[in-house]
Amino acid sequence: MHILLLGSGGREHALAWKIAASALVTKLWCAPGNAGIAREAECVPLDITDNGAVVDFCKANAVELVVVGPETPLVGGIVDDLAAAGIKAFGPSRRAAQLEGSKGFTKDLCREFNIPTAAYRRFGNAADAVAYVRAQGLPIVVKADGLAAGKGVVVARSTREAEDAIAMMFAGSLGAAGAEVVIEEYLAGREISFFALCDGENAIPLASAQDHKRAFDHDEGPNTGGMGAYSPTPFVTPEIHDQIMSRIILPTVSGMGARGTPFRGVLYAGVMLTEQGPKLFEYNVRFGDPECQVHMLRMMSDIVPAMLAACDGELKHFNLRWFPDAAVTVVMATKGYPGDYRKGSRIEGLEEAARLDGVEIFHAGTIERDGAILANGGRVLNVCALGKTVTEAQARAYQAVDRIKWPEGFCRRDIAYQAVEAERG
Ligand code: AMP
Repeated sequence: MHILLLGSGGREHALAWKIAASALVTKLWCAPGNAGIAREAECVPLDITDNGAVVDFCKANAVELVVVGPETPLVGGIVDDLAAAGIKAFGPSRRAAQLEGSKGFTKDLCREFNIPTAAYRRFGNAADAVAYVRAQGLPIVVKADGLAAGKGVVVARSTREAEDAIAMMFAGSLGAAGAEVVIEEYLAGREISFFALCDGENAIPLASAQDHKRAFDHDEGPNTGGMGAYSPTPFVTPEIHDQIMSRIILPTVSGMGARGTPFRGVLYAGVMLTEQGPKLFEYNVRFGDPECQVHMLRMMSDIVPAMLAACDGELKHFNLRWFPDAAVTVVMATKGYPGDYRKGSRIEGLEEAARLDGVEIFHAGTIERDGAILANGGRVLNVCALGKTVTEAQARAYQAVDRIKWPEGFCRRDIAYQAVEAERG
């Protein structure tokens, strides 16, 4: 089978590694890819937001399945355009991708199908939004409706902060994403992530996984795309798992089906465990980055048949199997990230690090030049390890980190600390 993978991050390197291991694959391309992905797939310099170019490449190369990593092409309708050309693609249609592409869309769906979420209202102008904020209590959450690369949510602790956020969004700082604003109730509780593979009618939960969003140890510093992740997690008890499936995931899948926009692909729910039970605060419509890295390490099943079953509406009798081992991934980023950083610094010691037992290194922003690996982005490496426990996986991952010589890089030293504490008892 000929497969094309779209994306260039650590998530896509993990996917490429897993897809390349499938007996079904005869040829794997990745657009645009990175220096690590180049070892698993042939990288091609396609603009993945140019649907026409992607369709043309698939036709020219007899591609039978396209796997879409990031949200932007999904929200841009890549799956629809490929389907119109008779090419199967793993991921939601443009309308189903609205679950991530529009906060207002998701909130309205929750209201229609009784899915527990924070109380909210949608606004098209600043004056009404400000009046609503003043009438509500604090804290309050201000969200740009559209995709804003992680910058579209402000948890405001003062009226001033909320008003500034509203003004910033309507002034166009986030582009079209801020043309509409959702104001929602602040949810107190523990924040967890929940992932399910969906085929339009059925949903199979993935292994539990959790990321760390803040840049520095002890969950301090600015928000990032994610500085590490681990699996399994200690917070989703079997009871909470069942509640999330029955009250959030399954009503979403059946609601999307009832509206005529069935959801296929990975549904990634951000859930707050509140005193009144689990409540949804956001959906993403693709694998997490870096959560995907630990999912791929722990997935025992061949991923390609699972993706095909999701595309074909045949997950009902499908079963995903997982290794019992725990997995941890530590993100190494260029100093300065998530703010300004320099590109082009040299990274050494990757082979020595990867030789350690249970260790796998997935690349994100890297590029190869004259045989050397150079940093080419903010998040650059995912140093991953399996272990019998999260504690063992964490120790192995940091042993590998310590073998990597990259003075311009940094990482958190406490990834998976909650699970390690839970294992200590
Ligand atoms: P999102 O982009 O929707 O994931 O939001 C970014 C972060 O804002 C989340 O990871 C939460 O920590 C926080 N957040 C979003 N919505 C709420 C809410 N209703 N109550 C409390 N925190 C929230």
